[in-house]
Amino acid sequence: MDRLPLYLLCCALLLCSCSTLPVESRSNLTDPPPFTPIDLNLYHSSVRLMQEIKELVRRHPDKLSMDSIKGGNRGYQSEVSVVTYCNNRRESYNDSKFRILLSFGQHGRELITSELALRILSIMTEEKFLPKLDSVSLNSFLDKLIIKVVPMENLNGRKIVEGGDLCERRNGRGVDLNRNWSVDWGKKEKDFDPYEENPGTGPFSEPEAQIMQKLASSFRPHIWVNVHSGMQALFMPYDHKNTTPRGFSYEQMRLLLENLNRRHCQNKCMIGSGGGSVGYLAHGTATDYMYDVVKVPMAFTFEIYGDSTATSKDCFKMFNPTDFGTFNRVLTDWSSAFFTIFKLGPRHLRELSDKGIGLTSWESIDEYLDGYLMDRRNRISKGKWSRPVVPSLPL
Ligand SMILES: [Zn+2]
Repeated sequence: MDRLPLYLLCCALLLCSCSTLPVESRSNLTDPPPFTPIDLNLYHSSVRLMQEIKELVRRHPDKLSMDSIKGGNRGYQSEVSVVTYCNNRRESYNDSKFRILLSFGQHGRELITSELALRILSIMTEEKFLPKLDSVSLNSFLDKLIIKVVPMENLNGRKIVEGGDLCERRNGRGVDLNRNWSVDWGKKEKDFDPYEENPGTGPFSEPEAQIMQKLASSFRPHIWVNVHSGMQALFMPYDHKNTTPRGFSYEQMRLLLENLNRRHCQNKCMIGSGGGSVGYLAHGTATDYMYDVVKVPMAFTFEIYGDSTATSKDCFKMFNPTDFGTFNRVLTDWSSAFFTIFKLGPRHLRELSDKGIGLTSWESIDEYLDGYLMDRRNRISKGKWSRPVVPSLPL
């Protein structure tokens, strides 16, 4: 998702062919294009954002907890923070909850996504509010859920962006974390751009991807959303081929996405498989792995904002809103979309469960708690992995 799009290349070619323009116009065009800096009146720095989240967790110990997971190899270190929402969490960790895993900030330059993570956590804890969503209604569906939020998956890449390289999307050593997963890893298309899409030295070569893989495999979510920016889209598998999964599972994912598009995206969001919709195939992505290997029944990639008028060097503007009105609208629209998922997602999952779509065995949440982040790759490789059972809840 969200590589520098083809139309920007077209724009660059158009600029190159402008030598017949008058000299005055030419001088304007040959000036280096201005680029927009990060507006710290709108955006938190990574340090401030994580501090705000820590304070939010401290103020709401009945609902939120936070873990910080460290990893590293070959002289490279990284750290991924995970916030868990579970209302009355001491008493309520049980098998009857739906599990949702959300990741933000996988690409360094997409700052708006981490702002959305903070906004969603603030609404969950009733420190911020959505129009038309009262406290009773909010808690009635949040009570059924355990939600894990990774607010800033790629902290090292984000720090490079904050250091001035506003176009960086990869991690702290130049690997694209959304090409480092094992499904169809390393395959290169004709238009492969090594700067944008370096997949690493092998599947899961990067500590951030390892941490996310272990988190997903132990938590076994029913819903996964990988949140990006660069365009407006609601994608389902697959990214590495231009088809979607077949059957009822596809129908349920599509219905949910169409609902979100209608309610929260003014029907402007592109919907479909990532590979079939975005104009290029992406190999080794997180969402394809979540669907194919972790067996997450509903796995998505959302693209929450893009400015197609920005020049190719103006990455902050291309991937992030630059005025208060748009910034706030994007956060309100997309946090509303996520609370619609929290409300309606379990209903769609029940439909899947009733049809018996691959939901034949599961592990309990207690096992998950006992073995938090336990590496279960051996079990996956033995082919004993199946989609988790959907809890029986009145919906
Ligand atoms: Zn991205």
